Amino acid sequence: MTAGIIDGKAVAARVREGLKTEVAAFHAATGIQPGLATVLVGGDPASEVYVASKRKSSVAAGMADLHQHLADDASQAEVEELLKGLAADSSVSGILLQLPVPKHLDAASLVELIPFEKDVDGLTTMSVGLLAQNKPGLRPCTPSGVIELLDSYEVPIEGANVVVIGRSELVGRPVAQLLVNRNATVTIAHSRTKNLAEVCRGADIIVAAVGVKGLITAEFVKPGATVIDVGIHRGPEGLSGDVDFAGVAEVAGLITPVPGGVGPMTIAMLLANTLRAAQLQHELAAV
Ligand code: NAP
Repeated sequence: MTAGIIDGKAVAARVREGLKTEVAAFHAATGIQPGLATVLVGGDPASEVYVASKRKSSVAAGMADLHQHLADDASQAEVEELLKGLAADSSVSGILLQLPVPKHLDAASLVELIPFEKDVDGLTTMSVGLLAQNKPGLRPCTPSGVIELLDSYEVPIEGANVVVIGRSELVGRPVAQLLVNRNATVTIAHSRTKNLAEVCRGADIIVAAVGVKGLITAEFVKPGATVIDVGIHRGPEGLSGDVDFAGVAEVAGLITPVPGGVGPMTIAMLLANTLRAAQLQHELAAV
């Protein structure tokens, strides 16, 4: 293997330690303790695990845990009322509606009830617009984690040729936008892209957010390129990604493993967003 490993666990731990200090300083200076309201509707086991982990991490960073849990059969009106209450509550810095919600609910319209300054997932139309216009706002967590990893390993972004594979609202589109805002030359590839391997071979950085296990093989990668694997696949041998790690590591300059690459960054960036949300609201209140 020739590639260096991008250690997402170590970067996430560093980000979280730094946030602990920043949260304490912000609290001391303003009297405001950032608070995260995770909202879980129903009892989907995977969602319960994710929410528990987000709550634990926010408390460890010195934030208030303002978790809300509604029953599986909560009506659209009940969830709306809860979200509107959290939006109006000044002790709530960030609101995270855990997705997916039960099928009888309209998730898209619920997400839109989160004000942009509390939208720690960065998924509302307002937040997407602010990102597209490169205006201050809260950015989606996993894409921000990708940028943090590149910066932590001093991978030059400005002027780099980047291929993002995937154009989802959650990962592909926002990560491409963040990279454009950092002056990269970005190609967005997707399921209709012709000659994907050839397109990727021109890249200094490849970001794979495809959801197809092991799709990116060594023949996609220019020697020395940086390869960021966002994909997560659960199999009998544990977790793996969209990248054929063993083969690509022979060619790439830097590569993220799965697990231990992008995955740990998502919660770290959620915490960063919650602090940023509290700061943003404090700034807006002062205007
Ligand atoms: P998604 O909504 O399914 O989007 C997948 C994208 O990949 C689509 O744009 C699709 O193209 C494209 N695609 C599918 N097959 C392709 C192919 N053979 N060649 C080229 N492009 C192809 O998935 P997502 O939500 O973005 O997630 C992507 C992966 O990241 C998944 O494995 C997911 O589990 C993982 N993920 C990880 C984290 C984390 O914290 N690490 C967070 C979120 C997601 P079309 O648009 O043309 O259909």
